[in-house]
Amino acid sequence: MAPVAFNDSGSVNGPADLDFTKFYNVINGKLTSTKVTRHGVNPATLKDLPEVPVSTREDVDAAMKAAEAAFKPWATTSYDERRKLVLAFGDEFERQIGSFVKFLTKEQGKPTHLARLECGAVQKWIKALSALDFEEELISETEERQTIIRYTPLGVVVGIVPWNFPVQLAVGKIAPSLLTGNPIIIKPSPFTPYCGLKLGELAQKFFPPGVVQVLSGDDNLGPWLTAHPTPAKVSFTGSSATGKKVMESASKTLKRVTLELGGNDPAIICPDIDIAATAPKIASLAFLNSGQTCAAIKRIYVHSSIYAAFLAAMVAFTRTLRVGPGTEDGVALGPIQNAAQYEKVRSFFTDLENDGSKIAVGGDGDGEGEEGKGYFVRPTIVDNPPSDARVVVEEAFGPLLPLLPWTHERSVIARANSSKMGLGASVWSRDVERANRIARQLDAGSVWVNAHLALDPRAPFGGHKESGIGVEWGVQGLRGFCNCQTLYLGRV
Ligand code: NAD
Repeated sequence: MAPVAFNDSGSVNGPADLDFTKFYNVINGKLTSTKVTRHGVNPATLKDLPEVPVSTREDVDAAMKAAEAAFKPWATTSYDERRKLVLAFGDEFERQIGSFVKFLTKEQGKPTHLARLECGAVQKWIKALSALDFEEELISETEERQTIIRYTPLGVVVGIVPWNFPVQLAVGKIAPSLLTGNPIIIKPSPFTPYCGLKLGELAQKFFPPGVVQVLSGDDNLGPWLTAHPTPAKVSFTGSSATGKKVMESASKTLKRVTLELGGNDPAIICPDIDIAATAPKIASLAFLNSGQTCAAIKRIYVHSSIYAAFLAAMVAFTRTLRVGPGTEDGVALGPIQNAAQYEKVRSFFTDLENDGSKIAVGGDGDGEGEEGKGYFVRPTIVDNPPSDARVVVEEAFGPLLPLLPWTHERSVIARANSSKMGLGASVWSRDVERANRIARQLDAGSVWVNAHLALDPRAPFGGHKESGIGVEWGVQGLRGFCNCQTLYLGRV
């Protein structure tokens, strides 16, 4: 199947560069608008961004119908052909990456270097996922019979994306869904719809109508999509609270769900680490994307023998981190992405003040932005709050970090595991044997030794406990987009 160029009016022609001034839904190979529109806000300037569609139920029905029609032809296109088209889509994204990076900073707020890293992950993910060995498995063979496990496409997939990594997480659903033979309808977050809509527009140059569609909308859209009878699967990334609603809604028609949800990742710092080298790494990983990262370090347990020195090194490094608009050079932390999240983060400061907690660095008030200019929050370290403090128990999803001392290995493992969440965790030590022993007792989907957040698209990613169900990426992630079929081939 050759790359498709659509010539009808309102559709995409040829390999032209995307226009990032006008934004459309992508339904059945066409760019469409809606009567009612809305817009996002640049969180660094609070200036309005361009209008985007507010999809109606009719738009949802039209997208579902197109996806349903696209399913069989796409599912029966060979794996090699699908892979070729997905790779070509990745190449074209790479060609236009500059525009995505620019707009990602505008709509999400993250510093340009981080936007570049996120967009850079698109090709990395596409190439790695496309290279995975995803074959049928022959599990036994006798003279009478072969037993084969097959992974067959599910049907229409809905991909629901949050606002913290809107490009990488959308592509992390699009690529596996398409590789495994399923059309996908992406719903970006209403806070960050822009790059997601452009990904859909770009995809029209490579895939037949209905294979990749993107709908933007308000708070009605997610529930309409998950309740619709057509999809076979919902791949959801977002908060645990919304994940539960998605699962409830999907249960009505027994849709498959993959839920990539919130986290409250612990990092356990052993007494033998190099403080000067480790403290900056830990702070950088915790404050990445202004703390708005699902698998960022959110609780730091430091051995009591080095607690004071480690805290001092963390504080000194944190003081060097510049807060400001992501477009400015040298900025480490951009704004919080939206008003509701900003208020939520600030409510943590109110609680800390009420509890009389000790703030070692940072604190409430703007970063470098002036009041009213953007949702800036200074990176903040809380010195040994009580273990039941909100900043320890809940995911603040902002640059707010509790440091807590520990003495006994068994008890720090219990404290690290005492969360309802289980997304990521890390252990930091020069003693690999000790670190490995601790790591294997941590209840999280990804556990790192002397690293955190180091993701590999060839490895499955997902959460334990209330951090999620199922995994994305890796061969196991691809299988999540498939039915598993056992084929018994008897000989007579
Ligand atoms: P959210 O749950 O508020 O929203 C996520 C998406 O769900 C958005 O597109 C939203 O419009 C949509 N949505 C909202 N209500 C819905 C409903 N009833 N039915 C269907 N869809 C609905 O999350 P957020 O605030 O955008 O993202 C932050 C959260 O996401 C954090 O908890 C973070 O840890 C988590 N997250 C997890 C991962 C992961 O891979 N585990 C990755 C990134 C973010």
